[in-house]
Amino acid sequence: MRSRYSAYCLRDIDYIYRTYHPSCRAANPKPALAAFAQNSHFIALKVLSCEQNSQQGYVSFNVRYMQQNVLYEFTERSRFVLEDAWYYVDGVLTDTTPVKIHRNALCPCNSGKKFKQCNLHRQSGS
Ligand SMILES: [Zn+2]
Repeated sequence: MRSRYSAYCLRDIDYIYRTYHPSCRAANPKPALAAFAQNSHFIALKVLSCEQNSQQGYVSFNVRYMQQNVLYEFTERSRFVLEDAWYYVDGVLTDTTPVKIHRNALCPCNSGKKFKQCNLHRQSGS
């Protein structure tokens, strides 16, 4: 699961796609995954709990990411199944309301800079 998060950060779309259960791949086409990863800047992941037996696993985590000047946060309990490898099947999401980041506020990525001065999130072409 953590590896999928890293893959999002690294924009390793093939890996994300591959770790979807085959039955879920049609609903999560690579271009959509790529667009999401491209537009999102992940800043924090907290794994809250992991449970697993021989066939199924559940991982609860909290993630924060930014898309341009909006901070998103959600908690998900994701379900994995073990076949020839572990696959992500689905998850139950709890969203928090997205928060607009003020230009003069401290950047949520903890760079210590004001958002307008933090150049870690510059999208190409903006
Ligand atoms: Zn920042």
